[in-house]
Amino acid sequence: MPNYYVNQNPQPDGYHEVHVDDNSCLHPPLYVNRVPLGWHSNCQSAVAAAKQRYILSDGCAYCVPNCHTR
Ligand SMILES: [Zn+2]
Repeated sequence: MPNYYVNQNPQPDGYHEVHVDDNSCLHPPLYVNRVPLGWHSNCQSAVAAAKQRYILSDGCAYCVPNCHTR
C-alpha cells in the first residue's frame, strides 16, 4: 500500500499528475515539486485527494496507468 504525491507544476494541458512514491516512475518530477498525498489503498483515492488541492489532477501514465484518463 504505497504513498502517493502530486506534482505541484501542471503539465502543458493543465493537469497535475499523481505519482506513486515507490521509485517505479520513469518520468518523476523533481523532489522539490512533489506534494505528498499520503498513503492510499488505490490510485482512485490518491487522485481524489489530489483534486482537493488541484481540481485538474490525473494519474501519471507511467507509474499510475490505471488512473491515467486523458
Ligand atoms: Zn509517475
